Amino acid sequence: MELCARKDVPVEQTWDLSLIFAEEQQMWEALDRLKAEVKAFAERYAGQLNSAEQIVRCLDDQEKLLPEISRIWQYSGLAVETDYTDNKLRERDEKVSDELTRLHTEMAFVDSEILLAPAGELEAAVKLAKGCRVYLQDLLAKKAHMLSPETEKVLTALGRSLGVPYDVYNTMKLADISFDSFTVDGKEYPLGYSLFEDDYEYEANTELRRKAFRGFYDKLKQYENTTAAAYNACVTQEKTMAELRGFSDVFESLLFEQKVTREMYDRQIDVITERLAPHMRRYARLLQKKHGLDRMTFADLKLPLDPEYDPRVTIEESHRYVREGLSILGEDYVEMVDRAYRERWIDFAKNVGKSTGGFCSGLYRQNSFILLNWNDRMADVFTVAHELGHAGQSMYSDAAQSFYDDDPSMYLIEAPSTMNELLLADHLAKSSADKRFRRWVLSSLVSNTYYHNFVTHLREAWYQREVYRIIDEGGSVNAEILNELFRKNLELFWGDAVEIPEGAERTWMRQPHYYMGLYPYTYSAGLTVATQAMLRIRKEGAPAVADWKRFLASGGSLPPLEMARLAGVDVGTDGPLNATVDYIGSLIDEICELTAELDGIRL
Ligand SMILES: [Zn+2]
Repeated sequence: MELCARKDVPVEQTWDLSLIFAEEQQMWEALDRLKAEVKAFAERYAGQLNSAEQIVRCLDDQEKLLPEISRIWQYSGLAVETDYTDNKLRERDEKVSDELTRLHTEMAFVDSEILLAPAGELEAAVKLAKGCRVYLQDLLAKKAHMLSPETEKVLTALGRSLGVPYDVYNTMKLADISFDSFTVDGKEYPLGYSLFEDDYEYEANTELRRKAFRGFYDKLKQYENTTAAAYNACVTQEKTMAELRGFSDVFESLLFEQKVTREMYDRQIDVITERLAPHMRRYARLLQKKHGLDRMTFADLKLPLDPEYDPRVTIEESHRYVREGLSILGEDYVEMVDRAYRERWIDFAKNVGKSTGGFCSGLYRQNSFILLNWNDRMADVFTVAHELGHAGQSMYSDAAQSFYDDDPSMYLIEAPSTMNELLLADHLAKSSADKRFRRWVLSSLVSNTYYHNFVTHLREAWYQREVYRIIDEGGSVNAEILNELFRKNLELFWGDAVEIPEGAERTWMRQPHYYMGLYPYTYSAGLTVATQAMLRIRKEGAPAVADWKRFLASGGSLPPLEMARLAGVDVGTDGPLNATVDYIGSLIDEICELTAELDGIRL
């Protein structure tokens, strides 16, 4: 299963970027138009933002320019995501990014000048504002942390350079690193990032799985110092910015934008680490017993409980599953699912140089684009449902909110997506009376949905918090320190239920999220809200669905605490978190019972 080149991928498995611009030429023309518009905008408003009316008019005019910037940025950037080995596309994207950064720099006066306006005018502007009200309020809250207009301009101009650590990481991972093939029983197997993460980690053949693990982590070792240096540059930079902007520490600085308290952040990490561990260790022991493994290692954790049962699925079939699974959300939602398949919003293909994992990128008041690596597995259907959850959020939020208020706080970003995974599982579990199938669905929830968000990303969150603690105290990190921290992290959670083999400590090298601030912990926060809202939908039906749609439509107009309350979930307490851990425990209980019944295996 050698990966093919991008050009050899069947077109129906690719996304259709011509939905943004029919031809590349049109993007360049749009960029030229935009440059003229931004110039006119700056001439009109620079030095003029001293009255409430002018401020609101300026922000409303800016709102018309921003979606176009985003369209151009996505057209160029998304193309690179599907082929990092294509230097032409990368050069083009460099050029486009430079141009767009210049435009942002030209507009940087807006925020700085608004903050210099007389206090009375600012108050009046907030009252007068419609689409830009929350934006203005946020800006005022930021005021204490803003630097002089000149400095802000310099920082905006340096924006691309400040992003270099992440570029280095991605280039190492997607362009430079190349894995050696390995041999099992005389047969040679190729190895690659996506092959390892999407295939070998789930492989039922223990020798094959563990050898792939060995080859993968040994190769990572050759890049650990470069990767650590890039990461250290990133977190050091964040610390510097936190200091410059007068935050008490780097956590306060990073949580500020999310509108999340330190208490909400810490609770997520601490409660899950402590309360979920016993359940997951039990699940690991069940896996070990079911597969008759001599020892249970970190390399075995992604094993499906019942691999022979893992149903193979075609892309076409995935459409039907997702459609049916999400139909509880209503006709408009199903119509969006149909459009996503019909209009090719989704890039399913697997090819050399393509970004790993999956993501969804929405165009304001248009469609979304979804990237994934399709492997014919039921788990991929969950990925499609997940990414369509982001698209669904955009659809409701775009319709109801201004461009400024479109995106929810990072804290809740993964709620709509994980909700869809839960709904799909619920639908599948109900669709058959077969016990083996039921166990397969429940164990998919535990081993994919909850494992991913409550274990993988939460371990990352725990580790990340330790890194920032070091940085906050004026220290720095290198590969040795990061390896040590990650090993401690894994050992703390898995205890004696799971052995952590040499190499697993380099797992920190696999995650791009570390370059995006306090992102990892939000996966479990979103899923906590989704789980509680799903249990409500299961119990109450239509009224809970309506609340969920209000939640989706509120976009970024409310802070996460209030937004979650729209869905009937109070994240101001540890109630939803404890209830969600209990729910995961109940899933594992049932999986154990079913396994006793089906296979006579008891823990
Ligand atoms: Zn997501």
